[in-house]
Amino acid sequence: VRTERYSRGVWFLESIFFLVWMAAIRVAGGGTQPGIDAGAVVVMAFAIVMGSGILRLVVILLSLALPILLRVLETRWSTELYVARPFAVTRLVTGATVLSMAVVLGLLMDRVVAAYFRQRELAQARLETLSRMLVTDGMTGLANQTSLFERLSDEVGRARRNRTTMSVVMIDIDDFKAVNDVHGHLAGDAVIVGVAGVLASIVSPPEFAGRRGGDEFVVVLPDSGIDQAMEVAEKIMEGVSTLRGARRITVSIGVAAWGGQDAADLMSIVDARLRRAKELGKDRIVSSD
Ligand code: GH3
Ligand code: MG
Repeated sequence: VRTERYSRGVWFLESIFFLVWMAAIRVAGGGTQPGIDAGAVVVMAFAIVMGSGILRLVVILLSLALPILLRVLETRWSTELYVARPFAVTRLVTGATVLSMAVVLGLLMDRVVAAYFRQRELAQARLETLSRMLVTDGMTGLANQTSLFERLSDEVGRARRNRTTMSVVMIDIDDFKAVNDVHGHLAGDAVIVGVAGVLASIVSPPEFAGRRGGDEFVVVLPDSGIDQAMEVAEKIMEGVSTLRGARRITVSIGVAAWGGQDAADLMSIVDARLRRAKELGKDRIVSSD
């Protein structure tokens, strides 16, 4: 889109340049009125092919107005402004050739500039795709492990600076191995994607969800205390219970509010609570030690 807009801008400037240039040549005593008329027709054709919208209309009107304006000027101030010259075919041919070469050059320049910008935009888009891939879990579209921990550290830093709080929720699918063993890996993948979908539907920025690997997920809740985190955990349980698939899916969840520790220690705490939820029989939330 930006390419087209730039290209259109170049085209417009070129057209205006040619019109002004032709007028200048004529006023300086060069060119002929038929030459100017022909030039104006070329610019108009250029506008019709290359242009669009209001700019095209402007150029068309200008290329109509210019020959008329020059004629008026010529009849009024011909002796002062123009050096009267006899009509010469060679001058007409030369003028037309120069003008058409200028138009062709202008067209080429426009294409080259547009191609350059298109190339740059493609490179930019590729870079953006790559950057997104670097921080995204390909299977679920959630944050991947690396970006999850990085963003968690950022949020811990923010909570520390702003003297606020934040919480973390860690989720692990119960007996996930059995899904794989009984229904196959594809069914297992579908369960992972399903749980990720539940998380994505529950969290909204600045909250975020990530996949820690395998069947384990983490939700980070900036500015949220343990009560809000518990609410989110319960919503996750509820959402997972509505998943339809090969078998009923449940999850175990550990919840922890930030208490001044660094990100790694916060992860250890919430991880220990998740393990405790597993020990207590799975399908439950543990939010204290
Ligand atoms: P628990 O209730 O204790 O969590 O038991 P579990 O069976 O869920 O055990 P665990 O969490 O250790 O099992 C994780 C399994 O997930 C092991 C691995 O084969 C499987 N797994 C890891 N990543 C993927 C994946 O991307 N797709 C599938 N289908 N399976 C995966
Ligand atoms: Mg599991």
